[in-house]
Amino acid sequence: MPKNPKKSLSKEGLLFHFKPSLLTPKLVSWYQQNKAPLPWRLLWNKYQSPYHVWVSEIMLQQTTITAVTPVYHRFTKRFPNIESLAKSTDEEVAQMVRGLGYYRRFRLLLKGAKTVTNEYKKGKKILWPNTKKDWMNIPGVGDYTASAISSICFNEPNPVLDGNVKRVMCRLFNISKPVNDISLKKELPPLLNKLICHKNPGDFNQGIMELGQTVCTPSSPNCPLCPIKRYCLSFKKDNQENVPLAAIKKEKSSTKLELNIIKHKNIFGIKTRSAKDKFLKQSRGFLSTSDTKGVHSAKVKLGQFKHNITHHDITVSVFLIESKIKPKNLEWYKQQDLEPNLIANLDRKAWKIYLKSQS
Ligand code: SF4
Repeated sequence: MPKNPKKSLSKEGLLFHFKPSLLTPKLVSWYQQNKAPLPWRLLWNKYQSPYHVWVSEIMLQQTTITAVTPVYHRFTKRFPNIESLAKSTDEEVAQMVRGLGYYRRFRLLLKGAKTVTNEYKKGKKILWPNTKKDWMNIPGVGDYTASAISSICFNEPNPVLDGNVKRVMCRLFNISKPVNDISLKKELPPLLNKLICHKNPGDFNQGIMELGQTVCTPSSPNCPLCPIKRYCLSFKKDNQENVPLAAIKKEKSSTKLELNIIKHKNIFGIKTRSAKDKFLKQSRGFLSTSDTKGVHSAKVKLGQFKHNITHHDITVSVFLIESKIKPKNLEWYKQQDLEPNLIANLDRKAWKIYLKSQS
């Protein structure tokens, strides 16, 4: 690298200057030698089924690898292939992913599995959708997931752009913008298209993401260990701690919610929330106060906790209503059977408060 790169060089010019033909193989071979043995990678290596990659990509949306790993094991044990998933119900799927949050994605995953088994099955074999375009027609599969699956499973050179990739690219090109700046979604894909490896696009995509997770971390990037440091403009300028700029934070709204634990004799009632509920649509859980209109028994406050859902800070108050009558339209469980049927962390936290109040 020259000591003083021309400041006026455009990003396209920089790419030319960097020679993607040198950077790209370095990143790919670093990934191939250092990749973490994540369960979805092992299953892909073993079975070469897009199903395992698809499930992992859906689970990893807005969720950490640490949180996903045990759920992924549980899920793939219960649904080892797309056929077993397609035959299941929303309830069964929700049971398997309890605690992960954003449950709509799993209802869409089930819908997608049904679509693939209906539309792509020839005899006993699934002829999987094998292009990004085809994957985009599967329910619940957006641009990112379609790029990930088509590149990893079908070698289609479609770059992915998540938070890790944005950070690495901003540093590589010394782009001084907030990492969630909307303009990066337009600016970075053309650069990634030039960098992506056409022989191993899946390894390139996973490599750049893994570099962001393990080396080019948000604070204190470990540049001496970076396989592409000699092509990194922010490293060259000693500016890597300053780019990208911190994300512009969206204001969170503060709101209050009451959850009511309905007890009748020794059983507990929960309901499936509607699509119109403000939080946790269509998940099973305790009743909000507006749902308890038909229950004419005194309620006792058991406690309170804070909970965050996307852009909401929620203060949740937990009440117990011991009802003499058994309200209709609820599902009833004995105490020992209730917990596995609570899918959302919000309800599980409320249940813990109840159990504590009884000890
Ligand atoms: Fe990130 Fe440092 Fe590598 Fe640049 S040299 S890509 S800042 S880890």
